[in-house]
Amino acid sequence: MASLAARLPDNAPGDFYVDSTCIDCDACRRIAPATFEEGDGHSYVLRQPGDAAERRRALMALVACPTASIGTASRANASEGAAAFPERVDENVSFCGFTSESSFGAWSYFVERPEGNVLVDSPRAAGPLLKKLERRGGVATMFLTHRDDVADHAAFRKRFGCERVLHADDATAGTRSVERLWSGTEPERLAPDLLAIPTPGHTRGHAVLLYREKYLFTGDHLAWSRQRGRLVAFRDACWYSWEAQTRSMERLFDYSFEWVLPGHGGGHRAVSAAAMRDEVARCVAWMRDQRR
Ligand code: SF4
Repeated sequence: MASLAARLPDNAPGDFYVDSTCIDCDACRRIAPATFEEGDGHSYVLRQPGDAAERRRALMALVACPTASIGTASRANASEGAAAFPERVDENVSFCGFTSESSFGAWSYFVERPEGNVLVDSPRAAGPLLKKLERRGGVATMFLTHRDDVADHAAFRKRFGCERVLHADDATAGTRSVERLWSGTEPERLAPDLLAIPTPGHTRGHAVLLYREKYLFTGDHLAWSRQRGRLVAFRDACWYSWEAQTRSMERLFDYSFEWVLPGHGGGHRAVSAAAMRDEVARCVAWMRDQRR
């Protein structure tokens, strides 16, 4: 729970505040941009919510915050924020909210399909979210993009009996016993509409998930930068090989998709798959330039 005693001095006066435990994960700024702003290594409340809609977004940020760094002086009931998750992104794809500190606030997604629901990366196993997922049919498959964003995977397995899928090159002591460890450099077909594509670079065993040739869940491989207005990869957070990550990015030319839905950084929808291909090409050119 956030602490009023640790309230950051740059917060605007009023009910909502960010305290000094903020890890600057960006989640609140993405969820409630009217309220939260980027400071020097942390977020802060730039403007108090001005109406009911902004207040709801601020409460969603409060419950999504991985470190419980957002509070209200009035100790407001945040159930309205909790009830908003999973939040629909498009069609049957939703954002889970409830991010985890162990994955530095990475975003996870819930895909509702008649053949079985899919969770992409692990949110925090918070009670309200678990109940919501249960009411919406549970989780059949949990696709883990890479070793950093596995968070509460074991709790989801325990609750829903889901099959956890992870590339073997990213298995650790905590994930070696997942149900489906796959290996190699070729894509792995999980279902007719689900394709796991190896994208080594950020980590050695990183992979992305292509759903219905429309949605690409990209983990820490590829994201949209609001500041730059284009797709980017994270050069400063490339733990395995930038060369490999650039080759993995080039490999995405083989696939068709309109959406990029990442763990960190912004998501992006292009006007068409062809337009997205152009965006990826621009990103690849920039990545190649970074190698020089
Ligand atoms: S969601 Fe929480 S940890 Fe992340 S930037 Fe906002 S206040 Fe900080």
